Amino acid sequence: MSIARRSLLRGALGLAGASAFTRLGCAADLAPRSLSLFNLHTGESLQAIFFEDGAYVPDALSAADRLLRDFRTGTIHPIAPGLLDLVATITNRLDTRQAVQVICGYRSPQTNAALHARSNAVAAHSLHMDGMAMDIRIPGVKLAHIRDVALSMQRGGVGFYPGSDFVHVDVGRVRRWGGNAA
Ligand SMILES: [Zn+2]
Repeated sequence: MSIARRSLLRGALGLAGASAFTRLGCAADLAPRSLSLFNLHTGESLQAIFFEDGAYVPDALSAADRLLRDFRTGTIHPIAPGLLDLVATITNRLDTRQAVQVICGYRSPQTNAALHARSNAVAAHSLHMDGMAMDIRIPGVKLAHIRDVALSMQRGGVGFYPGSDFVHVDVGRVRRWGGNAA
């Protein structure tokens, strides 16, 4: 065997080794991701594996878009898959089997403008309008606990609304607001 051929073989083996290592390193990222949601306004629920075999599941994403639609206008808007990842990771870390109760997912421009006119707490351009935010609570889990887990993830904004009994999470800039009382 020529030297050139030997080094070619070694190179090929090295590549195979590297790719096996990468697969191992990414095992956690490739694990199926599931979510259980309950929309408090519509009474609809969804239990779905939305990520499997290394890819998002289109049907599950569509079902989530629908469940998280603007219930006031019926408008459906794509929900950022990263938001589903975020909420799925929060529930995993909280080790709960309860469905996440959704107070608000997508918010249409009309609905947001109406809410903004009524309350200073609603931003003029909320990330709810981009399908990047959800207001949630989980039965049996303290609101402050949800907030702390969400904050520890550093993946976006976390708003604490103990008076209304929900935590706002989004996949925008990392920031926090709201009361600190537990
Ligand atoms: Zn919100």
